[in-house]
Formats: sequence, C-alpha cells, structure tokens
Amino acid sequence: HAKDQGQEFSRYVDKLKLVTQARIELENDMRKALDQEQFFLEFQPQFSLQTNQMVGMEALVRWRHPKRGIISPGEFIPIAEDSGLIVQLGEWVLRTACQYNKNWQLAGYPPICISVNLSMRQFRQYNLAERVGAILKEVGMEAKYLELEVTESMTYDIETALSQLYSLKQLGIHISIDDFGTGYSSLYYLKSLPIDRLKIDRAFVQELMLDGNDAAIVSTITTMAHHLQLKVTAEGVENEEQLEFLKQQNCHEGQGFLFSKPVPAGVFENEFLSRLAG
Ligand code: C2E
Ligand code: CA
Ligand code: CA
Ligand code: CA
Repeated sequence: HAKDQGQEFSRYVDKLKLVTQARIELENDMRKALDQEQFFLEFQPQFSLQTNQMVGMEALVRWRHPKRGIISPGEFIPIAEDSGLIVQLGEWVLRTACQYNKNWQLAGYPPICISVNLSMRQFRQYNLAERVGAILKEVGMEAKYLELEVTESMTYDIETALSQLYSLKQLGIHISIDDFGTGYSSLYYLKSLPIDRLKIDRAFVQELMLDGNDAAIVSTITTMAHHLQLKVTAEGVENEEQLEFLKQQNCHEGQGFLFSKPVPAGVFENEFLSRLAG
C-alpha cells in the first residue's frame, strides 16, 4: 500500500514537472509573442435591451501561437499576470483597441464606446491614469469612448482603489466592474466608488431560468444598480428566455452568444458597424 502511494506520488511529481515546464515555456513564448505580433483582438458587441441597437463592444485578446494555434486568454492571462508580462500586454491591448475604435470613427461609422479589460497588476500601477491618458492622446481617441473593466478584487485595498478610480475618471473615461457578484466587494464600498457600470457575471445569467436563486441575484443586482444610478450589463446572454427576463428587470445592456460571439475586426465591421444607423 505504501509502495502504491509512493508510485502515485512520483507520478504526481512527474506531472507537476511537466505542467511547470509547459508554463515556463509558455511564459518564454509570450515574451517573443509581443515582439512578433502574435497577439490579436476580437470584438464582442454589446446591445441596448431597450432599443436593440449596438451601443458598445468589448475587446478581447487572443494569441496566435506559432506551434499551438490560437490560445484563449483563459489559458495565458493567468501566466501573464504571474510573470508581470500582463502590464506590457495590457497596454498593447489598450492601445490597439483604441486604435481600432478611432479608425472606425474616422471611417465614418457612428462612434461607440470600446471596453477594455484591466488586470489588477495594471490597476496597481502608480502612474496608471497618466499611461492611459498618454495612450488616448497618442491614438487621438476621445476619452468618453473608452470604458475600462476592473474587478471587485480592487476593493481589497480601498484607499488605492479610490485614488486610482478618481484619477481615471478625471480623464473622462468610463469604469465598469466586471464579473460582478463573484467577488467579495462590500456594498458599503460600492456606493462610494466612482464607477459607471456593473457587469453581472455570466455564471448568474446562465442559470437564470433553472435556478431561482440566480434569478433573485440578477434581479437584486439590477435593482441595486438602478438605485445607485449605475448602468448594468448582463454578460453571457445565450437565449431568448434569459433576454426576456433581463428586459423585464430593466437591465440596460446585454452581451453574449445570443447576439454574437467575439469576432475578428473585419467581421465586426461588416456585420455590426456597417449596420449601425447614424
Ligand atoms: P471576461 O472579461 O468576463 O470576458 C467575457 C468572456 O466571456 C469572453 O471569453 C467571451 O468570449 C465569453 N462570452 C461572451 N459571451 C458569452 C456567452 O454567451 N456564453 C459563454 N459561455 N461565454 C461568453 P474570453 O474571450 O475567452 O476571455 C476570458 C477572460 O479572459 C475574460 O473574461 C477576461 O477576464 C480575460 N481577458 C480577455 N482579454 C483580456 C485582456 O485584454 N486583458 C485582460 N487583463 N484580461 C483579458
Ligand atoms: Ca470583461
Ligand atoms: Ca466578465
Ligand atoms: Ca470572467
């Protein structure tokens, strides 16, 4: 029995070595990937649930790995966060997303807001607002067309969160809390944060019609958002039933596979921007 356990343990150690090795390899690849322009963006439209018009989009990063094909952010963002590479990658995403949006505006499409995810590592940078401001200036995009998505984990240091958010708001950009409901931010903080929007995590939206508790949570978050004069977006809207429920709750906006999965820039332009009424 003890021998079995010993074998099991050494198998476990072997596996761990492999996993660690793969991780180190991916981390090294990522450094090159930034220089070699292997990262690219996809865009997912966001719709007003009142007018059914597209009102915004979220930029999501992907990695075209030379050997492994396209890797999803769920796999490489955590590694980028651990290694600190996320700061460089995040800035590339921000600059590139703003550049696309600016170019679409220059092409004559009605201007809409672009949302970009901000990692905690970026959020903690002492000169974050300055850097964001510099990118806006460099690209020439008005601040009001940028929304940064942060997570509730920022509230673990409330002093820093407040001062960072105020500096960002001063630029004129919008701020939303992503994956809302999955973190542990207190409602007490929520009312004092200078934010514009809550994005209800897709975990709650997905089980909406199956789980009465999730329906209650979605309904409560939406009502609370209205009282706090925040906009509210439902993530992960996949079917008509969910959409109906969200409309009944007066949820402002929706994002999800029901409308569209994230798509490359060219598809986004042809399928969505070109259909926007001016
Ligand atoms: P997120 O910010 O919550 O982004 C939404 C994710 O949900 C996207 O996954 C999107 O493809 C997926 N999604 C959208 N609608 C639906 C739906 O109806 N059903 C389902 N099942 N999924 C839906 P994606 O692109 O794989 O991104 C995963 C996560 O990676 C993002 O979650 C975000 O946390 C992170 N991420 C992506 N791009 C960036 C980035 O540029 N910077 C940072 N820091 N994180 C990023
Ligand atoms: Ca997001
Ligand atoms: Ca989210
Ligand atoms: Ca998420």
